Amino acid sequence: MSKFLKARYCSLEVYTPGEQPRDKKYIKLNTNESPFPPSEGVIKAVNENEVRDLRLYSDPTANALKAALADLHGVRPENIFLSNGSDDILNFSFMAFTEKGAMFPEISYGFYEVFAELHGIDYVKVPLKSDFSVDPEDYTGDGKMVVIANPNAPTGLCLSVNDIEGILKANPKSVVVIDEAYVDFGGQSCYPLINKYKNLLVVQTFSKSRSMAGARLGFAIADEELISDLERIKYSTNPYNINRLTMAAGVAAVKDNDYYMENCQKIIENRDYTTRELEALGFYVIPSKANFIFAKSDKIGGEELYLKLKDNGILVRHFTKEAIKDFNRITIGSKAEMEAFIKATKQILEDIK
Ligand SMILES: *Cc1c(COP(=O)(O)O)cnc(C)c1O
Repeated sequence: MSKFLKARYCSLEVYTPGEQPRDKKYIKLNTNESPFPPSEGVIKAVNENEVRDLRLYSDPTANALKAALADLHGVRPENIFLSNGSDDILNFSFMAFTEKGAMFPEISYGFYEVFAELHGIDYVKVPLKSDFSVDPEDYTGDGKMVVIANPNAPTGLCLSVNDIEGILKANPKSVVVIDEAYVDFGGQSCYPLINKYKNLLVVQTFSKSRSMAGARLGFAIADEELISDLERIKYSTNPYNINRLTMAAGVAAVKDNDYYMENCQKIIENRDYTTRELEALGFYVIPSKANFIFAKSDKIGGEELYLKLKDNGILVRHFTKEAIKDFNRITIGSKAEMEAFIKATKQILEDIK
């Protein structure tokens, strides 16, 4: 740290992304990426002509991509905001809608607390119920922005659209951000409620179900006034926030929606397979609607299993937080990857007997 850094940033606890090691080839089940490549349409769209056009700025209005997404979801382009990954939208929301502070579940996506700290926001971390589920009754705000990942991470548990509607009704004076990064793996999106609730901001991403984590593309769906608030922040930070290659890839990915939905079905099948196999090995697996499962065993500690899997060339995500330290979050990959994971786990349990 240099002596030039502003005091308020010196004590920041930054977000720790999952490992992206380069030392050898791992089976990567640690950052919830897709095992499937982008669609053929995406691969064709990112072509030589697009690369040549990189000398030009990208379209700051992103009209083509907004139109494609609006069409897919049956909303208007004015209801869509685009950003360089959905993390950026969450960041903008913490900047924009937190006059009275923010509240979010104590165990959830770690970035919420980082954004709150970054912007010096007064925030409340709401404990989960003992079964790790979110109790919607807890979110009766006094004007605090509510942020809920649905399905939640790292648990994979979902609230129903009815529950979300209850939270919207209980918080008429604040924005309710529903982070639907994992919604395509069996959850139900609440975006149809934007017509009824002007305080609803639904955030989704191309990183997980659309095999584009490396392209950095996220979007929000909301009433057009909330969207225009986000646009104000965008035009005050980075008007060209979607690069040309990502824009072209995004339009093609929306066109190829069926391909991605089929991939999600395969992930759901592999999730069921992995859950069954782990349960047969005595694991407790939280029922997940995401492309990961959260599991623990009373035969082996969370960290020990994580380290032993890593020795075997398989990466999963372990969190050191006390309440969840017995668990590992395991991304659902291809069938072959999950078979390798189960085989290695079986062997590890044998070896410690
Ligand atoms: C992965 C993830 C994101 C971030 O996605 P990007 O679009 O890649 O920035 C946001 N929220 C949750 C809960 C996530 O797991």
